[in-house]
Amino acid sequence: MTLNGAIETAKTLHYESIVIDTHCDTLTAMTGEGRSLAGPSAKGQLDLFRLERGGVNIQFFSAFIGPEFKLSATHRALELIDLFYREIEENNHVALHAKSSLDIEKALSLGKIAAFLSIEGGEALEGSLGILRLMYQLGVRSITLTWNGRNELGDGVDEEVTGGGLTRFGKDTVVEMNRLGMLVDVSHLSEKGFWDVLNISRQPVIASHTNCRALCDHPRNLNDLQIKALANQGGVMGITFVPDFLGENPAVAHVLSQIEHVIAVGGPDCVGIGSDFDGTDNLPAGLEDCSRLPVITRGLLERGYPENIIKKVLGGNFIRVIEQVIK
Ligand SMILES: [Zn+2]
Repeated sequence: MTLNGAIETAKTLHYESIVIDTHCDTLTAMTGEGRSLAGPSAKGQLDLFRLERGGVNIQFFSAFIGPEFKLSATHRALELIDLFYREIEENNHVALHAKSSLDIEKALSLGKIAAFLSIEGGEALEGSLGILRLMYQLGVRSITLTWNGRNELGDGVDEEVTGGGLTRFGKDTVVEMNRLGMLVDVSHLSEKGFWDVLNISRQPVIASHTNCRALCDHPRNLNDLQIKALANQGGVMGITFVPDFLGENPAVAHVLSQIEHVIAVGGPDCVGIGSDFDGTDNLPAGLEDCSRLPVITRGLLERGYPENIIKKVLGGNFIRVIEQVIK
């Protein structure tokens, strides 16, 4: 095949696939940048215009509770959720707030982007299952239980010396999230916390933006035992483009190798994309913003993956989990 032929084949496959990105920090970035979600914007790495160009059908928008909001965590979450509401309403001709797999179908049939709302940092619950249930009512469908530090739910990766996992409230939260139909996200969680979640959750769990420790030895990444356990339980991990979790001089090739490693260790059903666009200043050359996502499809084709596995990576695996957990 000629080079142009290969590029065209990759484009066709990419745009006919359902593409999901399970993590971005665009809501947080927008609060400081004064830009709209519509785009195209010269600022940041993700907006609706560029998502469309990147062939993204389903995007998770995270309400991230930064450490500086520890004492007003629910307030912060609500302000970011309000920002999400306002932006989706303003752009309802191209996006809709998705709360179920039925909403995904609706968005796809209307040619709109399905926008899911997630929270990064269980601080937002302020130790209350009541607030968890209200967050569900507001349309939150995924919670990253901790960020790097300790909160009411458990210890994040920076607390590893303590050996801490989930607290009793953290365990109760996982059970209640299972009951409500919310994705339990173990990205940023301590290793002990990860195993606690896998022991407790009756539903597949996700790591929305996490890479493999075997390729980049960073505590934010999962080791092979964790990847196998996540896969056995039906879970999926989204490969992130953040340089710290890819290794030195990160390039698109590193992202592809991360995907390959997950497939080698856990099989083709447990890997997806969790970019973390707008959560980092630096990105690998060729993946500078969300419009560049077709390079992943092209790279996987070049590495010899069949179309059915590429479609699983781009979105099929996360769709399966959404159908099972969120319904
Ligand atoms: Zn994160």
